[in-house]
Amino acid sequence: MRFILLGAPGAGKGTQAVEIKQKYNIPHISTGDIFRSNIKNQTELGKKAEGYLNSGELVPDELTIELVKDRLKQEDVKNGFLLDGFPRTIPQAEALDEFLKELGIKSDRVINIDVDKKVLIERITGRRVCKNCKASFHIAFNPPKVDSVCDYCGGELVTRADDNEEAVRNRIGVYESQTAPLIDYYNKQSLVLTIDGNKSPKEVTEEILKGLDK
Ligand code: AMP
Repeated sequence: MRFILLGAPGAGKGTQAVEIKQKYNIPHISTGDIFRSNIKNQTELGKKAEGYLNSGELVPDELTIELVKDRLKQEDVKNGFLLDGFPRTIPQAEALDEFLKELGIKSDRVINIDVDKKVLIERITGRRVCKNCKASFHIAFNPPKVDSVCDYCGGELVTRADDNEEAVRNRIGVYESQTAPLIDYYNKQSLVLTIDGNKSPKEVTEEILKGLDK
């Protein structure tokens, strides 16, 4: 299956991606994770992307589209994929459609996780992410068993550089102006499954999996 996850920053895309990829046995492709790993290793791409990520701006389309095309050419994507954080603009969505068409395939479903704005800010500013396995926790809503230690792999939990309030407000604004129009774009292709993401992570997972089974 080929899925796309849509939703504002803090909607729970990363958390739900773990469940969806397990159920369908498909690779989880997060453009944000790819950029962060390139920044950590200070690659050419990482150096170009760093300023955009830190301020909550989008990395330019040309750079992002090439990166995703390269990833989609890899062997493990043959049986499907779960795109998380891509596409984020109409030109990215058009480039993806065109690329998939060249390969003779199509996206099966777009999962749109819908969350109220005030909940998003609260969720993101309390988020802590494992440096090692990228698992996500929240200091109040989903705390780790041991302070600052990942429950799954024992890695150190850190705050993402762009999870401060200023960058978060910017990221939500960018989402509203550039990414939210994709809901209409994919509605025209009858692909959108909208899920109420204000509920608990477990309830959201159940609704997504039920919706995808239909
Ligand atoms: P995320 O982890 O999905 O919240 O992404 C973190 C940051 O990576 C974003 O705020 C952007 O700076 C950058 N980024 C991730 N995906 C994209 C994309 N599809 N287009 C442009 N920038 C992106």
